[in-house]
Amino acid sequence: MFIGHFGVAFGSKRIVPTVSLGTLILAAQLLDLVWPILLLLGVEHVRIDPGNTAFTPLEFYDYPITHSLLLVLVWSLLFAGVYYGIRRGWKGAIVAGCAVLSHWVLDFITHRPDLPLFPWGQSYAGLGLWNSIPATIIVEWAIFIAGVALYATATSPLDRIGRYAFWGLVAFLVLSAIAAMGSVPPDAKVVAVTSLLLWLLVPWGYWIDRHRRPVSRLQENLTKA
Ligand SMILES: [Zn+2]
Repeated sequence: MFIGHFGVAFGSKRIVPTVSLGTLILAAQLLDLVWPILLLLGVEHVRIDPGNTAFTPLEFYDYPITHSLLLVLVWSLLFAGVYYGIRRGWKGAIVAGCAVLSHWVLDFITHRPDLPLFPWGQSYAGLGLWNSIPATIIVEWAIFIAGVALYATATSPLDRIGRYAFWGLVAFLVLSAIAAMGSVPPDAKVVAVTSLLLWLLVPWGYWIDRHRRPVSRLQENLTKA
């Protein structure tokens, strides 16, 4: 899953208005941000295998550190702990930790059974939504659109940057998702390097968030009335 994870990051803002969108993107995408680093270091591995599932030409055959359920739980707890250590907010820490975990849950829905439960052994999970292109598009885009709608209504722009940087990111994600559809990367290194570029979306999230402010529930009800 790709833009669905961003849907979670955007949507979480409604639950924790004080947590920056940058932090929420970092949390929801953490596993896929660490993954290319481990690919380049030769610790984890991916293979190009067109037709592996209908939706992706990638065979995720070795990614126990970033994508095994047990270690994802550890990543989630660590992330929540670091957040609490820096910002001292329980609610923010819990939601950020859950956002990390949500990545595995969404990957579990989409991947074929290639997600390890433990970093050792041979137990794998995955419901294989990627076997159907239409089903993948419906589920992933529904999550993304819902998340964007939640963020757009839970916050309001303070200035033009707050408006255009936000919609710019949405447009960038939509175009990237469309470009990725059906494209077959030449090798695993290209996959790693392009995935590494996704780190840029974290400061982009912080930038957006500094130029928008949370809409209070009261204000929301007034505009609705
Ligand atoms: Zn992933």
